[in-house]
Amino acid sequence: MQALVLKEPGCLSLERVEVPDPGPGELLVEVRAAPTCGTDLKAFLRGHPQIPMPGVFGHEYSGVVVAAGPGAPFASGQEVMGVHSAPCQTCFWCENDQENLCQKIMATKVLGSYAQYLKIPAHIARLNLFPKPAEVGFERAALLEPLACVAHGIEMMGVGSNDRVLIIGPGAVGLMFASILRSLGVPAVTVAGRNSQRLAIAEDLGVQAVYLYGLEPKSAEFDIVIECTGREEIWAKSLDYVRRGGKVVLFGGCPAGSTVSFDTRRVHYDQITLMSPFHFGTRAVRQAREWVLDPAVRLDHVLSGDRALEDAESVFRDLQEGIGIKYIFRP
Ligand SMILES: [Zn+2]
Ligand SMILES: [Zn+2]
Repeated sequence: MQALVLKEPGCLSLERVEVPDPGPGELLVEVRAAPTCGTDLKAFLRGHPQIPMPGVFGHEYSGVVVAAGPGAPFASGQEVMGVHSAPCQTCFWCENDQENLCQKIMATKVLGSYAQYLKIPAHIARLNLFPKPAEVGFERAALLEPLACVAHGIEMMGVGSNDRVLIIGPGAVGLMFASILRSLGVPAVTVAGRNSQRLAIAEDLGVQAVYLYGLEPKSAEFDIVIECTGREEIWAKSLDYVRRGGKVVLFGGCPAGSTVSFDTRRVHYDQITLMSPFHFGTRAVRQAREWVLDPAVRLDHVLSGDRALEDAESVFRDLQEGIGIKYIFRP
């Protein structure tokens, strides 16, 4: 089969690799939709500690089971949606309700959804793979993983129905936060950024959209500020917009070795809660599944159309330029 391989930052190639053979509890899934993701863009641009190079690439997917190992929980022909990791459920963190920090969650994840077939390990098939109903499209179902990240973030921040929320960074995750907060009935959601196309999409969701540099520090009025850019200067600037006693959710991961300075007066005397949700556990995946299945939750706005695997480099160059939000490969 053909698989997209990330050779080194900025270099992708389509290579022939063996079709994997599913062992006990494992499944072979024919990939029907594999969306691009901000994590993939980071890996393409500068490498990523969780994505080995050279290595098969892509981690979001939905598809059809074409082969099942002995004892696997799905059968050939079933349409499925899943995520690329699952916790061990036995380590210290799993037993302390922090499955997202499971010591094995990254060691046992699956990569390689930008290929015709993807082998799903047994623990992921058992915990974090679900049947896809026929009425849900493959591209919507393939958003399960980024939505699980959003679900974990929303659970951790504990948003109230009257909270005024500022989302900085109208990329895929920022726009998914906006959509989910709208569907949860949070009335005052503002999205700030610098890409006017993406801000227009935010407006279309019924949230207020503002140009980032139109936000002055006097706008320290938000109950919750969600940082979705992964840039050090925006992490630091996020504190300018939160009210006394409010929360800053630092969602976008910065490059390894980054450091950020905060005004300690604001953090202490204004009692600002800083949090930085990472990844997700099984509860967040189940919540994300409910959102995927609920037609009232708008997700179409983050999908920017299909692209060919052969054009992968130009796809990631487009994303780097801020053109499009999430493209779909259908290998
Ligand atoms: Zn992702
Ligand atoms: Zn664990």
